Amino acid sequence: MQVSANTVEFRVELPPDLVGPEYLDKDGKVSLLANAVSGSMDLVSRSELSSLERLRVGRTSEEDRDILTAFRERGYVYEDAAAEQKAYRDLVDGYFRTIQEAPFQFMFIPSFVCNLACSYCFEGELTTKSPQMSEEMIEAAFDSIPMIQELHENSGPPYITLFGGEPLLDTAYQRWAVEEILKRAYDRGYPSTAITNGVDLDKYVPLLKQYGCEEVQVSLDGTPSVHDQRRVFRNGRPTFHRIERGIDAALDAGVRVLIRLLVDRDSVDDMPNFAEMAQEKGWIDNPLVTLFYGFTKQTTFLYVTPDHPEERRRTMVRGDVKPGLSEAFFEMLRANPLVDDMLKPDPARIRSAVMEGDRIHPNLQGCSAGTSVIAFDPNGKLYGCPETVGRPQHACGSYAPEFRYARAYREPWRHRHVDTVEMCRQCNVKLFCGGGGCPIKAWAASGGNFDTCYCPKVETIKSNVERELAYLLPMALRRRNTNTVTKEKGTWQEMSQAGSFPWMS
Ligand code: SF4
Ligand code: SF4
Repeated sequence: MQVSANTVEFRVELPPDLVGPEYLDKDGKVSLLANAVSGSMDLVSRSELSSLERLRVGRTSEEDRDILTAFRERGYVYEDAAAEQKAYRDLVDGYFRTIQEAPFQFMFIPSFVCNLACSYCFEGELTTKSPQMSEEMIEAAFDSIPMIQELHENSGPPYITLFGGEPLLDTAYQRWAVEEILKRAYDRGYPSTAITNGVDLDKYVPLLKQYGCEEVQVSLDGTPSVHDQRRVFRNGRPTFHRIERGIDAALDAGVRVLIRLLVDRDSVDDMPNFAEMAQEKGWIDNPLVTLFYGFTKQTTFLYVTPDHPEERRRTMVRGDVKPGLSEAFFEMLRANPLVDDMLKPDPARIRSAVMEGDRIHPNLQGCSAGTSVIAFDPNGKLYGCPETVGRPQHACGSYAPEFRYARAYREPWRHRHVDTVEMCRQCNVKLFCGGGGCPIKAWAASGGNFDTCYCPKVETIKSNVERELAYLLPMALRRRNTNTVTKEKGTWQEMSQAGSFPWMS
């Protein structure tokens, strides 16, 4: 028997009295084993962990037998290397089969123009002056969709996303372009959606309904007092109540609204107030509304090219999220169950495993930019990553005036995953990471090579998961402790009941 290379140990500090002393190490932390190939995660006692350690160094004894047999059933231990390799290959092959049949997202950017001037906008100067998609360009973009899908060997149903700049601008050109795009999508049977700032959403609702667009995504920064400091018109006028009106108009018409809450260090403490407001408005309980969050990012890396001097490249690509934000976020959640109820946060895809007994879902590719997203910009260019639109050094081809697909640029990106990036292949946390970090950052930092790694750091991946576990586990254990089912003495079930997640009980 051998310990799986993908078995990860997470160490978490819990409030006192949730678990017995047999689970606590000398620092008062508990250990969880997780394996994203088998989808298992369990809280383990010190003696169970010792058995695993003895197996690791080849010194097991008779007393370890039952525990290791149970660990093998959970996929932390394999009979031999061939058995583990087979399980891993089945997982990877299954993932790529799914990717080939999964919906492919085509983003249409009629123009980069936007009526707002949000302080953190990644499109920056592009949004003030922009070319526009002509009718021929829109037609050409739709014509290229089957060709792109074929190049990606993708047979899934395509879907269309209106993107910008701001797609739902209340101008004659934009209304015309949006209708042209929605009409073509509708005629071809492609579902459509829009990512909008929402300030003119109410005016677009009839058009969206007419062409079967059933869902839009809108961003908010918090309650009006915070939001209106940052999401403002170019002359500084506030936007919150206009967006609110747009959301309500969409909901009244039966259009689903995904509300993305942008969070940073300055706004995180406003979330509880926002949650109260959302509850009063009926958004939290409305089945047409989904509220989720995203941390605001620094995007200086978008401006980097491989020609920049090395030191400059490295300093520009470093660090997306401000230090301490994730700690502050979970601290706020802990004190405010209503925010948890509103967001159901799950950045590391482990919430449903801990709370609902679901499998842990492995992450083989950190972002979808290489595999299932294409953006059509108003210059006739194609992009994989929506954050790079309008920056020709990141274009992967063109759709107008002629279709070109830059395979030499694109291939390494499309096939980049946990096993193609050398440094990630042997990494113990790769299935929690997706491997390689952001491809654009890796490309920029390495001087133009996609098959390199911009590693967010093994310790960072582990501590992100540990932070979320420290938040989720007490909730799961408290729930379980009030709902105990007696298991037969001395069985794996009994052993795991003491410490594993609800799916074991
Ligand atoms: S990017 Fe870093 S943490 Fe992620 S799989 Fe690669 S080596 Fe591991
Ligand atoms: S390439 Fe980087 S910036 Fe673009 S979507 Fe992927 S992770 Fe995000």
